[in-house]
Amino acid sequence: MTTLTNVPLPKASRDITVAYLGDLLHSAGFIDDRQRADLDATDRQFRAQARATKARTDEEASPFKAVTALNLTDASGNGTKIDDFLLARLIAEDAHLQFCKIDPLKLDLEMIESKISRPFARKYKMIPVAIRDAKVVVAMVNPFDHAAIDSYRPMAKQDIDIVVSAESDVMAVINEQYGFRTSVTKAERDLSRGTIDLGNLEQYIKLKSGAEIETSDQHIVNAVDYLLQHAYESRASDIHIEPKREHAQIRFRIDGVLHEMQRVPKIVNLAVTSRLKTMCRMDIAEKRRPQDGRIKTEHDGKEIELRVSTLPTAFGEKVVMRIFDPEILVRTLAGLGFYEDELKLFAEWIKRPHGIILVTGPTGSGKTVTLYSALKSLASPEINITTIEDPIEMVWDEFNQTAVQSKLGITFAHALRTILRQDPDIIMVGEIRDGETAQNAVQAALTGHLVFSSLHTNDASTSITRLVDLGIPPFLISSTLIGAMAQRLVRKICEHCRRNRPLNFEEAAMLNLQAPPGKRIIVKEGAGCIRCRNTGYFGRTGIFEILPVDNAIRDLVDRGEDFLKIKDMAIKRGMRTLRQSALRKLAEGITSFEEVVRVTGI
Ligand SMILES: [Zn+2]
Repeated sequence: MTTLTNVPLPKASRDITVAYLGDLLHSAGFIDDRQRADLDATDRQFRAQARATKARTDEEASPFKAVTALNLTDASGNGTKIDDFLLARLIAEDAHLQFCKIDPLKLDLEMIESKISRPFARKYKMIPVAIRDAKVVVAMVNPFDHAAIDSYRPMAKQDIDIVVSAESDVMAVINEQYGFRTSVTKAERDLSRGTIDLGNLEQYIKLKSGAEIETSDQHIVNAVDYLLQHAYESRASDIHIEPKREHAQIRFRIDGVLHEMQRVPKIVNLAVTSRLKTMCRMDIAEKRRPQDGRIKTEHDGKEIELRVSTLPTAFGEKVVMRIFDPEILVRTLAGLGFYEDELKLFAEWIKRPHGIILVTGPTGSGKTVTLYSALKSLASPEINITTIEDPIEMVWDEFNQTAVQSKLGITFAHALRTILRQDPDIIMVGEIRDGETAQNAVQAALTGHLVFSSLHTNDASTSITRLVDLGIPPFLISSTLIGAMAQRLVRKICEHCRRNRPLNFEEAAMLNLQAPPGKRIIVKEGAGCIRCRNTGYFGRTGIFEILPVDNAIRDLVDRGEDFLKIKDMAIKRGMRTLRQSALRKLAEGITSFEEVVRVTGI
């Protein structure tokens, strides 16, 4: 066999698989035979799973994430972390190409935009990072993807050089920089181009109608679109845009925790805020008073509503957008996190013809989702479901929804009286806050309606005491209340970086757990990875304390016993407390010690 040149022959086209990454790690000495066998098993599992779930995006089913999630310890003993940077280096070596660590601050975003389209970049996981010697340097996750390279050539309009980069780097550029940052940079350039400065920006925007702004300030429009898209893709529940002295900070709330995502120049922030205010028909000129509004947007073919509120702060208007994604707001009952016995019990409650069902917990404990999901599961053309909400969180065709408007004198109590004349079968009263509402709810239940509502109490049994405090006679409570359910949301440990964690003596004692002599209790925790943005958590699930009002409980209520007696009796009769429910999720490795303590206290 003769070799004609020293130039390495291009390697054949191939996919990056878990097994291939295993091969690379093994031949470079980072893993031993046993670990490699583990990886081969993971490879089979991964393929089966990918086939079964038809993973929505490649990002969800990434062989890199599958490998790094195993948290392999380096067999060479050097303590090298097996992350996707190491994997990218090994691929680069195998492909005889250069490895490139992407520095987002050094990227020329305009060049990127002129050289590749975002959908193409996402699909093939590649991004141009520089122009060097009249060639486009393209960072690829899979340099063996000849089909991608061939389709890219005509788009690049010049010669290309391939380098290899880590998947997390490439995807971060595409998701977080490309688009949003480009638009922000262009907008900043336009806005600061002499004619428009901070001083007359307000006037400039005031002069234009909403429609004009949309056509002329395309960069701002794009920036807002990219921002929303990024928020939806990150599963964010809220977007905070906060003006600071020098810039504005944009944070997303994901699984209940805020993450800083972007910083934008002040001048761009003003324009972004005006754009958002226009979108929800607020008064753009009004900056000293808080305002609120709504925006309807679309993402992946589904409608997502944003509830927007503004608040004047020291450095300007702060904007908070709450994201109402129907897929997050309404689930099947089984998707709420119930255990089988709990689901059976709750499903039985909501099928009753009349009575009151209470869901309790502080703000942010998932009550609304539970109520909507229950109503949605009951909705049918034969029944009339009417709701009174403050505010309406999500609009559903199947329900007749009314909003409380205290300014107009439409309170929960007032609306409830009115809708009883509208022949409802099922009524949802957003919250029982006062005696009048409580009385009307009881009245509705007594006259043959099924009533759902929520209370701000800490556990299930105190909701009974609360009704008494609101002036409902115990015999009316015992005859109408079907049950009370307290709930909380706990964060779920990220499955991609879940690992063991022993509890120390104090920690175990905090939860009243006792390890067998000489042993430690092992729970799970998230190590932190790309998928979970280094938080160790991904998604949330409910924990519940379900108190059915049966004969024994009814008896205690009638006698006016306090909540502790009621709680004791309920536990005796099989009620799992919030703490017990949380501990069960801890034992199952679904949530962490820290979450149990945070959510259920000590
Ligand atoms: Zn993770």
